[in-house]
This record gives sequence, structure tokens and C-alpha cells, in this order.
Amino acid sequence: MGPPGAGKGTQAKVLADRLGIPAVSTGDIFRANVKDETPLGLEAKRYMDAGNYVPDEVTNAMVRDRLSEADAGEGFLLDGYPRTLPQVGTLDAILAEHGHSLDAVVALVADTDVLVDRMLRRAKVDGRTDDSEEVIRHRQVVYAAETKPLLRVYAQRNQLVEVDGVGEVEEVSERVLTALKTLEG
Ligand code: ADP
Repeated sequence: MGPPGAGKGTQAKVLADRLGIPAVSTGDIFRANVKDETPLGLEAKRYMDAGNYVPDEVTNAMVRDRLSEADAGEGFLLDGYPRTLPQVGTLDAILAEHGHSLDAVVALVADTDVLVDRMLRRAKVDGRTDDSEEVIRHRQVVYAAETKPLLRVYAQRNQLVEVDGVGEVEEVSERVLTALKTLEG
């Protein structure tokens, strides 16, 4: 978890690779559907372009499907999910149905100004339509209102690991792996 621009996607790929499990990124799945102009993509695009969350029913159904695929049987790393309290409830239910449990929740921590700056640069490189400055600032507000409260939920469950997300990619990955070890022990 972490605010937009904190590097979730980048770290998710590196860590999933190191752990030998698939990274399941709701943002990537939505973007792939937008690109292919599927019904899901057409619906999601309206919300994404405005910097709002895709409705829970839509997101939850998509994640439920994805986690039923064979490659998720031995574990997975979620990137960008859950993002709302109802999504936490759905994830709990999906995990219970599959006889899985959550090992840890990693939160990448970074200052808002650093993040907005990073995202403006990324917008130029990737051409993401949800990356205008106004939308970027709105997404930070949505994160603070909808998703930040989830950190307390997972902290209370003793599953939260907070990691400084500012630094080189490899540096941050090492911090995450080190932090996960302390949680195991
Ligand atoms: P970032 O990491 O920059 O926050 P993502 O790639 O994770 O962006 O997500 C891009 C967009 O996809 C979000 O702004 C939102 O509109 C949508 N999205 C992704 N995950 C979720 C989710 N769990 N619930 C609702 N909307 C989501």
C-alpha cells in the first residue's frame, strides 16, 4: 500500500520476482482493459481519468476472478488492492474461501511533494491520462480519505510493515525484504 506515486508498482514487480509469486496489480489490470476497450475497461476509464476509484463491486469482482487463477494458488503479491474498507472485507472473504491468509501488508511511506513531483515526471514518460497535475493532486486527496484509514486496520492486526519509499529502487526493495523478515521473526 501507499499513496499514488510511492512506487508500489515498481516494488511489487521486483518483490514478486524475488519471492517467486505473481504480482497482481489492479491498476495494471484496469489499464490493460482500457487499452483493449473491453466493457470493464470502458467503465473503469471514466473513474480513472478523473482520479477516482473504480466502484468496489467492479474492482472486487475483478480481483476475485484473478485470484482464482492457477498461478495464484501458491501465493501472490497484491499491488493497489485493497484500497477501501469494503475491499478489505472482500479480500478477507476471498482469502478464507481459498484457505489462504495474509502474511503482511507493506506500506511505502513518502512525502506528498516528492510524490507529486515523481508523478508529473512519470506523466511525461508514460503518457498516462490520469496524470495531469489537477488529477494527481485529487488522487492524493482520495488516497488520504479512502485508503489511509486501512493502515490502522492492518496495524491493529499486527500485519503492517511501514517502509521509507524514498531512495533508489534496489534500496527500497532491500528495506522491504528486511522489514518482512522482522515480521516473520
Ligand atoms: P497508483 O499506483 O499511481 O496509485 P494504480 O496504477 O494503482 O495507480 O491505479 C490507477 C487507477 O486505477 C486508480 O487511480 C483507480 O482509479 C484505479 N484502481 C486501481 N486499484 C483500485 C482499487 N483497488 N479500487 C478502486 N480503484 C482502483
